[in-house]
Amino acid sequence: MNQKLQMSSNLTINLERVKQDLYNLARFGYNPDDQGIYRQGFSDEDMKARHWLMDQMEGYGLKVRMDGAGNVIGRYGSDDQKALLIGSHLDSVPAGGMFDGVLGVVAGLECIRVLQENNIELKHAIEVIGTSEEEGRFGGMLGAQALTGNLKLDWLERAQDHSGEMLRDAMAKCQLPYHLAMEAARDPEDLVGFLELHIEQGPVLEKTNNTIGVVEGISGVFKWLIKFIGKADHAGTAPMDLRSDAFMGVADFAHEISRIIDEEGTDKTRLTIGSVELKPGFAHTVPGEADFTLVGRDMSEEVMRNLADSCRKVCSSIARKHKLMFEYEQMSWLEPRPCTAEMVELLERHSRARDYKTLLMPSGAGHDSQFFTDITPTGLLFIPSVGGVSHAPDEWSHWHDVEKGCNVLLDATLELIAA
Ligand SMILES: [Zn+2]
Repeated sequence: MNQKLQMSSNLTINLERVKQDLYNLARFGYNPDDQGIYRQGFSDEDMKARHWLMDQMEGYGLKVRMDGAGNVIGRYGSDDQKALLIGSHLDSVPAGGMFDGVLGVVAGLECIRVLQENNIELKHAIEVIGTSEEEGRFGGMLGAQALTGNLKLDWLERAQDHSGEMLRDAMAKCQLPYHLAMEAARDPEDLVGFLELHIEQGPVLEKTNNTIGVVEGISGVFKWLIKFIGKADHAGTAPMDLRSDAFMGVADFAHEISRIIDEEGTDKTRLTIGSVELKPGFAHTVPGEADFTLVGRDMSEEVMRNLADSCRKVCSSIARKHKLMFEYEQMSWLEPRPCTAEMVELLERHSRARDYKTLLMPSGAGHDSQFFTDITPTGLLFIPSVGGVSHAPDEWSHWHDVEKGCNVLLDATLELIAA
């Protein structure tokens, strides 16, 4: 074992402090009726949580600021040093849980506290970041996009949430003039890397009895809106063999999904029909039109292209069979984002050095990390979610797993920044 590893293993995080921070943050947006957390981006509760965290960080002597995109940043180290960024998001989905996002922010703060109390000499600074609006209330990952120079001014001007509220109005209410978000971009020259600890939000670690997931990359995602157009008919008078029933197209396609994955996909492929609308949508009318969404994911963009080709061909042939017209529109195509190989190696090595059961895995869900891969070496760690549940009030992770995740983050941080 080299000296760095020995030093890393001597320090551990203080779980009680991490617990306290998580419970304190869970008060912001907590709804006793369904026990969910409602801390959507740029809501009052979101901003209160941000200011609470800023006060905490100031209490530990960090240099604290909120950037133009609403990201909360606490810096430990001198101004002229490069910085290792550690963080995740502080906002939640409606009726979310107390670990999603927040864990990665609190874990970063805890790493700093351990460095402070052990008087560890640093060759780089460390910044804890609580990013803004990761959950996509306005359709993006605003905070991470801003920090990594992935924002466009015209999008900031146009973006609105489900209720029609404009992003720029929501930001103005928080005293954040939207155009200043463009100035939040970090210079890659000033950065050492980005580390994020997050709950898995899926069942794989628990099912495979692993404690730490080291994420190799974030899956690419494409989203299509598909239409089968047939002919609406009376459900009593139109004989079965003379129908152009749009729903039959959807049903046939759904059955083809597993074959498409067998032929073109990998074990990391996901194809999902998440929403179907039948028109006119009456019990006694043969559906004349079926509009549905198809979301495809994989870690390889070539595989994604092959899946997309195959889905298109299968839909055309199903349309012919049922005398339907087939149209589709590609709503989005996000390429896969591999995490940085050195960071994957670093996190895996430290997890195994502590004898934690460790799995290399993809992330099917999007995370702040995916944007940081653009500008700086990026590593993402998962701990198990009980029952795979997330984005729900009963989202939970065992405290012993929280502790282990934070310890791996601490060891990796020490190797990256200790003098
Ligand atoms: Zn999250």
